[in-house]
Amino acid sequence: MDSESMMRVVLAGGGHAHLAVLADWARKPLPATRRWLVTSSRFTAYSGMVPGWLAGFYRAEDLTIDLEPLAERAGAELVLADVIGLDAEHRMLALSNGEALAFDLLSLATGGETDTSALAAAGQRLLPVRPMCGFIAQWQGRFAPDLPIQPQEVVVVGGGAAGVELAFAICAVQKGAAARYRVSLVTARERFLAGHDQRVRKLAKRALQERGIAVHFAQAVGAEGGLLLSNGRFLEADCIVAATGSRAPHWLAQSGLACSPEGFVAVGPDMRSLSHSAIFAAGDIIERADRRLERSGVHAVKAGPVLAANLRAALEEGAMRHYLPRRRTLYLLALGDGRAICSWGSFVGMGRWAWRLKDWIDRSFVRRYRDHNIAPE
Ligand SMILES: Cc1cc2nc3c(=O)[nH]c(=O)nc-3n(C[C@H](O)[C@H](O)[C@H](O)COP(=O)(O)OP(=O)(O)OC[C@H]3O[C@@H](n4cnc5c(N)ncnc54)[C@H](O)[C@@H]3O)c2cc1C
Repeated sequence: MDSESMMRVVLAGGGHAHLAVLADWARKPLPATRRWLVTSSRFTAYSGMVPGWLAGFYRAEDLTIDLEPLAERAGAELVLADVIGLDAEHRMLALSNGEALAFDLLSLATGGETDTSALAAAGQRLLPVRPMCGFIAQWQGRFAPDLPIQPQEVVVVGGGAAGVELAFAICAVQKGAAARYRVSLVTARERFLAGHDQRVRKLAKRALQERGIAVHFAQAVGAEGGLLLSNGRFLEADCIVAATGSRAPHWLAQSGLACSPEGFVAVGPDMRSLSHSAIFAAGDIIERADRRLERSGVHAVKAGPVLAANLRAALEEGAMRHYLPRRRTLYLLALGDGRAICSWGSFVGMGRWAWRLKDWIDRSFVRRYRDHNIAPE
């Protein structure tokens, strides 16, 4: 078949949600298609292991997946660029390398952006957790042990699972290090591990206290030299780790796609855009029309195989599958000391066993894609 008559299928974003799609294509080629993977960076970091890397349990290479060999096996051309615009009507993507890419079928999973708008005045002190590979590189630069001046005050902003785990990890990393810094956590009270059983919050609060991590229940605004809190306090900070929630990529606003009021792609249970049937989306970039779905790696990963099946079905005019999340989602919050809190609906536990379980799940996930051992889940 000549390339003119082939369907052009584009995956935008090489993160959690699209890994299963690439694996699906590698296992069973998509017939009569030309395929692209457009993504910012050749490497993708598995977020669940980032706090463990900070705490010294992993090397950076343990949690990164090289997309180049994966794309090659999937028969997809790898384009290292950012999507900066989408014309949903004319099926065209604008890329940061100045090129335009036309598609017949598109899947969007470029994740969310860290919302640092309230913190921007803190300038150079700000360290957003996304993009994750950028966070890893920047952290290594700012906290290199041979730097003459080491940060003294580190503040994590954001009381979700990521923010709390990072606070534990940052506190743990300095064990045995020459430099010592104070760690604090700033979060709105209602956002502190929201959605988890109150016993999870209690255990986490106690563990934070035991490590001397000050918790400030307040809103923070960036300022010269640190943060201004809504309770009137000024918090000095040499480094502000922004683990604030995701916001939708700005380029979606002009795309013509149906979006939620917050600007995320509105999709149905089959991950298909509500307005454009040739566009699918998954992961942190979506808002489900039929239910509230937390933006988490768990859902991005679990939706991946459904997305893969539905992209195939869209080409073959087959039946669509629905991504139905389980009633309870398993979260394992690392405490940075070889223990973790297990939060699974109303089941709550804490200990070394929870960390071992997390370590096993996370390492197995990365190994599957890194070593190209991509058997179906
Ligand atoms: C520190 C941290 C720890 C976390 N821990 C957990 C956890 O333990 N459990 C959990 O369930 N969730 C966790 N999360 C949340 C989880 O990381 C996200 O929900 C998940 O990554 C979303 O997957 P995604 O595929 O939508 O996006 P991502 O995995 O972020 O992938 C996005 C991809 O798109 C690329 N990209 C970005 N912008 C563009 C663009 N404009 N054009 C092209 N490509 C682009 C990126 O390079 C990346 O490859 C954590 C998050 C953080 C920050």
